[in-house]
Amino acid sequence: MNSSSEVGTTEVNSEPSSDQGLADKIKAMAVEFGADVVGIAPAVRWDDFVPEGYRPYDLLPGAKSVIVVGTRGPSAGAWRSPNPRVMEVLGLDFANDRAIAALTGWVETETGHMAIQAPGLPVTGHQPPFSYMLAAVLAGLGTRSLAANIILNPRYGLLYYSACITKLDLPADPMLEQDVCPAPMCVQTYKHIGRTPCMAACPADDGGCLDGSIGEDGRIEEAYYNRERCVSRAMNFGPVAFQKVLVDLATEEDQDVRHSKAQSDFFSRSCSGVAFYKESVAQCFECMRVCPVGRQERKLK
Ligand code: SF4
Ligand code: SF4
Repeated sequence: MNSSSEVGTTEVNSEPSSDQGLADKIKAMAVEFGADVVGIAPAVRWDDFVPEGYRPYDLLPGAKSVIVVGTRGPSAGAWRSPNPRVMEVLGLDFANDRAIAALTGWVETETGHMAIQAPGLPVTGHQPPFSYMLAAVLAGLGTRSLAANIILNPRYGLLYYSACITKLDLPADPMLEQDVCPAPMCVQTYKHIGRTPCMAACPADDGGCLDGSIGEDGRIEEAYYNRERCVSRAMNFGPVAFQKVLVDLATEEDQDVRHSKAQSDFFSRSCSGVAFYKESVAQCFECMRVCPVGRQERKLK
């Protein structure tokens, strides 16, 4: 396990600490509930990054802290499968959500302070009421990357995040001082070919989604991510696909065509994605497959 306090170096805010022992206990419980990493951010950290309406205390009045957990998705073996569809249909069961649900209950029961699972799913468009990505950054668990803005953890790379907002006033973890992306080898690759591995895997100027530049200081200078294109490739079988096919079916006048569309593999997978929410996790991992961050953790026998 890697708590954010092990990876950060600088305390950005100096909010009062209430109980380090309790914070350590909460982190230990999060790990027991399935988290690979856990970090704590003070609610006031949001003030500098998001407008009113998207801050922890807009969701839980009086909120003081946000506990963020991250879990790995596909196993090391799944990443190495020669069949890329293995990753599509595995179903990751959202271990991060399971962990945060259990932890939220534990916080209320054991500490007597209010807590809620932060709502990370969008209610309109792609805009969630609460950004797990920002929460992960503010809790010191990772930094934004050139690959679709994914928050990379320095040890594990791609992780799935969830958060618990609570009125408990907990000691904060520092945000990471060092950018995780670009990795040193990506800076070298960029110097040689003008692209990092993720950009080369999904180049915006050749039908893909990613572009950007790295400055002389080795940091991200510019980042471009075509989200609409990525969603159409990586999210084909979730609720959005189900809605599209439903309209298509409802307006199809030819009974035979309607029947065959309803029985098609595409609609079956869309139904499966909605019913079990398994196939909708992602259908493309190519930018992450080539990313060196976290690769060490996936080197098993
Ligand atoms: S998930 Fe796939 S489509 Fe989206 S940016 Fe990465 S490689 Fe491109
Ligand atoms: S491959 Fe990974 S570390 Fe390298 S630039 Fe892309 S996201 Fe960043």
